[in-house]
Amino acid sequence: MKSLLITIDRPAGAGKTTVSRSLAQSLGYRYIDTGALYRGVAFEAKSHGIHHDDDNGLEHLCSILDIKFVAGKDGTRLTVNDSDITDQIRTPEITMLASAVSARTVVRKYLLDLQKDLGKEKGVVFEGRDMGTVVFPDADVKFYLDASCKTRALRRYKELSPKSSTTLEKIERDIKDRDENDSTRALAPLKPAKDAIIIDSTDLSIKEVVELMLTHIPNIS
Ligand code: C5P
Repeated sequence: MKSLLITIDRPAGAGKTTVSRSLAQSLGYRYIDTGALYRGVAFEAKSHGIHHDDDNGLEHLCSILDIKFVAGKDGTRLTVNDSDITDQIRTPEITMLASAVSARTVVRKYLLDLQKDLGKEKGVVFEGRDMGTVVFPDADVKFYLDASCKTRALRRYKELSPKSSTTLEKIERDIKDRDENDSTRALAPLKPAKDAIIIDSTDLSIKEVVELMLTHIPNIS
């Protein structure tokens, strides 16, 4: 099959990365989780003591960051200036901070160039919030994955470790806040591209979503 560039945009917690990863695996494509890049910048901003709305600080930070996805034996790892930060970017604090820094022009500009570079090679599934609208408006196939806020919160809640003290209500509140931040920001807000295929996964399993997506992928040999 000819290599395509496929985009998946979604609000927080809709299908998580599982759907995108499974779709990429079914096609033998690479999978790029662009949320990890925003999380990486947020993590570095925190480590350097830079406030999420300090544009000068963020601009300088981006100029010294070398963010990469590196294939490792436990899957793809995220490194920043050769340090592996994959396991540190999934905390609730970094999650909310990623949403805050993602609204800053300097951060989006820096990551836009980086993502376009990653997209030079086709045969890839890009997942994020503005993949089909801003980063890859000419993508071959675009999906917009949705699910009700309650369903998304419940999915997150079920993934938590039994030791976690977070409540379902707190997760739902955080998801609502992130939806609000992501879809109302001036720059690259979360919305479906005009030519996106919209899939509501509220009542579908991961397998059903992936199977539905596959029916929309042209088989060009
Ligand atoms: O996908 P994930 O939840 O890991 O993304 C973390 C945050 O990064 C999102 O809440 C969103 O604010 C931001 N993001 C973005 N554009 C993308 C991917 C993620 O603004 N393409």
